[in-house]
Amino acid sequence: MVDLHTHSTASDGTWSPGRIVEEAVRLGLRAVGLTDHDSVDGNAELVETGRTLGLPVVPGVEISTRWNGVTFHLLGYGIDPRIPAVKAAFDRLARSREARAPRMLARLQDLGVPITLEEVRAEAGTALVGRPHVARVLVRKGVVRDVQEAFDRLLGRGRPAYVDKDRLDPAEACQTIRRAGGVAVLAHPGLIEEDDPALLRPLLDHLVELGLEGVEAFYSRHTREQQERYRSLAVQRNLLVTGGSDFHEPGSGGPALGTGYGSLEVPDACFEALARLLKERRPELGPVLNPGL
Ligand code: AMP
Ligand code: ZN
Ligand code: FE
Ligand code: FE
Repeated sequence: MVDLHTHSTASDGTWSPGRIVEEAVRLGLRAVGLTDHDSVDGNAELVETGRTLGLPVVPGVEISTRWNGVTFHLLGYGIDPRIPAVKAAFDRLARSREARAPRMLARLQDLGVPITLEEVRAEAGTALVGRPHVARVLVRKGVVRDVQEAFDRLLGRGRPAYVDKDRLDPAEACQTIRRAGGVAVLAHPGLIEEDDPALLRPLLDHLVELGLEGVEAFYSRHTREQQERYRSLAVQRNLLVTGGSDFHEPGSGGPALGTGYGSLEVPDACFEALARLLKERRPELGPVLNPGL
């Protein structure tokens, strides 16, 4: 079993990349991938800890995009962040997040919720501010009982303190990932179908033209029927099948590392096929993907 979709303190998770690798070893996972939102800053520590502990790791990123008014996420595995065009794209996303945080807090203050940018920045540490950081501050201050209530009442899409952020165009996101030597994968298609059931197939075909190479068929919130359906959509198009939990924080009611909501089981073959493709494209990732050899 593997987990190819996790978030660390480099974005809005609560475990450091190193801790994620340690816990993955403890759980007996065969490989773990890191996919922080719009940031590759945690990948160096992931790779370092993977090497130390002898666990195969996959450096990655999760990029927010928008197409025809629908927002969705693309995962980029094995990207080399040193490429200038890649750096520029991430810098732009960082600036957009920087601009969003004070606007979100202004909305909350208008609603009579006492919260400051300093508190939120302290919660985020070195990471870019995301809504979960705001939510955790609200929990600590007793404004809401838990993170979920913060999203349901205030921060979720359509709620009064929601402020959207800049997103890359999917063409730009795919191109950025490919230019960086990476593999672009459509994240959690089930969430796209929740928004608009008719959109997934045309979107997938469009993304394949842009260079998409995989579909995240295994995901905490996908039913078995969805897993099977997304897997066959991928196989029909000759795409990789990947999977992961979307772990952010233990004991928060969200998905757990490796097992999601309890029944997730991402086959080792998902990692093996991805690793094969990545090793062809970026041979220097060999020791990261196979630290035992
Ligand atoms: P941001 O990138 O700052 O817009 O925050 C997105 C993150 O917020 C997601 O990755 C989840 O961790 C979390 N999130 C978004 N929507 C919800 C929701 N409705 N309930 C709980 N968590 C959410
Ligand atoms: Zn998140
Ligand atoms: Fe996502
Ligand atoms: Fe995610």
